Amino acid sequence: MSQNPVLRRCVACKKVLNRKYLLKVTKDFQNGVILLDGMGRSAYLCPTESCFEEATKRKRLQKALRCEIQPSVFKMLQKQLNTCNDSDTKA
Ligand SMILES: [Zn+2]
Repeated sequence: MSQNPVLRRCVACKKVLNRKYLLKVTKDFQNGVILLDGMGRSAYLCPTESCFEEATKRKRLQKALRCEIQPSVFKMLQKQLNTCNDSDTKA
């Protein structure tokens, strides 16, 4: 019984996962939509191509954050996708 992981739901596949494995997108009141912690509503996405595609196709992040998202944000997100599943074996 150590600490409980913080669980969040992916906006694309709806799976509930440990927050540290998910990409966080925040709608910051001052800075708009950012990929860091900010003040405001946030949404989570698995760092996988399939969830990224689902999210972009169906505008899941826009719906979750209730706003438009700049293409640059999606480019930054795409850079952070894992191409394989063993990324947490080495930091
Ligand atoms: Zn997902």
